[in-house]
Amino acid sequence: MGTDVVVVGAGVIGASIALELARAGRSVAVVDKAGGVGLGSTSASSAIVRFNYSTHAGIAASWEAAALWRAWQDHLGCEVGEPARFERSGMVMLDTDVAPRSRYLRLFDQVGVVYEEWDSATLAARVPGIDTGRYWPPKRLADQAFWADATSTLGGVFTPDAGFVSDPQLAAQNLANAARHHGAEFRLRRAVVAVESSGGRVTAVVLDDGTRLSCATVVNAAGPWSGRINELAGVGGDFSISTRPMRQEVAYVPAPPGFHPDGTVGISIADLDLGTYIRGETGGGLLVGGTEPECDPMQWIDDPDAANPSPTPPVFEAQVTRAARRLSDLVVPNRARGVAGVYDVADDWTPIYDRTDLDGFYVAMGTSGNQFKNAPLVGLLMTALIERVEAGADHDADPVRYAAKHTGSTIDLGAFSRRRPVNSGSSGTVMG
Ligand SMILES: Cc1cc2nc3c(=O)[nH]c(=O)nc-3n(C[C@H](O)[C@H](O)[C@H](O)COP(=O)(O)OP(=O)(O)OC[C@H]3O[C@@H](n4cnc5c(N)ncnc54)[C@H](O)[C@@H]3O)c2cc1C
Repeated sequence: MGTDVVVVGAGVIGASIALELARAGRSVAVVDKAGGVGLGSTSASSAIVRFNYSTHAGIAASWEAAALWRAWQDHLGCEVGEPARFERSGMVMLDTDVAPRSRYLRLFDQVGVVYEEWDSATLAARVPGIDTGRYWPPKRLADQAFWADATSTLGGVFTPDAGFVSDPQLAAQNLANAARHHGAEFRLRRAVVAVESSGGRVTAVVLDDGTRLSCATVVNAAGPWSGRINELAGVGGDFSISTRPMRQEVAYVPAPPGFHPDGTVGISIADLDLGTYIRGETGGGLLVGGTEPECDPMQWIDDPDAANPSPTPPVFEAQVTRAARRLSDLVVPNRARGVAGVYDVADDWTPIYDRTDLDGFYVAMGTSGNQFKNAPLVGLLMTALIERVEAGADHDADPVRYAAKHTGSTIDLGAFSRRRPVNSGSSGTVMG
C-alpha cells in the first residue's frame, strides 16, 4: 500500500498539515491511534488566540493565523459540517518583568499587531471587577506572603483582535473534513509502530495491524508522543532543542458577576504576575489556566497515556484562588471542575517545524502549550517547507521564508529549526 505522505497524528496540527498537503495535490494518509480526530492534547486546549510571543516569527505567525481563524469557512474552502467559531474577546497581557512590554511592543510594531497600552486606571475601567494590584512573584497558597497586600499597581497591553476558538476538537475535525474533501485518508485506531528507511531516506511506516504504508514523506505531528515517533525513525541526534511531555490543568468555574458585560464573552487576561490566565466562555463560564510560575512544581511525565485526565483539588484551588485575587468577586468552588491535558514542551517553549537528518522525515512538534492558535498556518508552513526541501533547498543553511498572505509578514522558518540556539528571550512559560 502506498501514498505520497503519511502524517502521524490527527490532532489540530496533523489535520491542518494533511489539508494543505492534500490541497497541494499530494496523496496523504493520516494515522492516529485514537478513535477520532482531535482527541489528543487538542481536546484539552483552551484554544486562546493571542499574539504575545518572544520572537518576531512567533508574533508574525500568530497574527497571520488569526486572520485564518477569522475567515474560517474561507480557509477551509469547502463544506465541512458545523464550523468552529472564533470569538473575538480581546486579551490584556498584564505587565510583568519576565515579559516586559518593551520586549514585545517593538515586535508588535514591526508585524503590525494592533494594540492599546493601558495604565492601571484604564485596566480597571475596561475589565469589570479587576484588581490592578501587582503581586509579583507568584506564590503558593500556603505561603503567608500570598495574602499580602499588593506592592503597587500594574497596567497591561490590550490586543483587541485576540480571542479564542469555541471548540478545539471541532476545529480539528473541520480541518480533517476539508482534508478528506481533497482526498486525504484518515486511518483511526491505528498506531504507527515502526518507521522504515533505506539509504538515508524514509520509505514506509508500519501500523500496529501489520499494514506497511510505503511513502516518500512522513510528518511527525504526534503532539506529546512525538519524541517516541522520532525514536522509531532514529532521528533527534542533531536536535539542539529537546522536548518533554508536561501535564497541565485548566479549571472551569462560573464567572463573577459583571465579567461578561452585555452578553459578551469578556476580555481574556494573561496574568503572569499571579501565575494564571483567564478566559471567558460563552454561557457565563471562565477557564483558568496556569503559566508555570516558579513556585509550582512542573508535572513532567514520561508517558502521556498515563496522565491523569481529571483536575486535582490542590491545583484547581491554587489556580482559581490566584484568579480570585485578580477578579475579587470570583468564588472558588469546593468541587474541582475542568480538564487536564499534556503539553509537548520544548526547551524554549517554541515549536519545532522542520526537516530532520533522515530525508523525507519532517517534524511539527514541541508545540509547548501554545500552538493551537497557529494550527491553520502550520499546515501552510510545513507544506512550503516540504515543497522547498524536496525540490533541493538547503533549509538548514538557508532557512525557508514564508510570505504571509493576509498580513504581509515574512516568517523566517529558521526560528522553528531543530538546530536553533535555545531562544534566550523566551519567558520560560507557556507564553513562549
Ligand atoms: C491544557 C492545554 C491548554 C492549551 N491551551 C492553549 C491555548 O489556549 N492556545 C493555544 O494556542 N494552544 C493551547 N494549547 C496547546 C495546543 O492545544 C497544542 O499545541 C495543540 O493542540 C497540539 O496539537 P497536535 O496536533 O500537535 O497534538 P495532539 O492533539 O496531541 O495530536 C497528536 C495525535 O497523535 C496521535 N498519536 C500519538 N502517537 C501515535 C502513534 N504512535 N500512532 C498514531 N497516532 C499517534 C495521538 O493519538 C494524538 O491524537 C493547550 C494545550 C493544553 C494541553
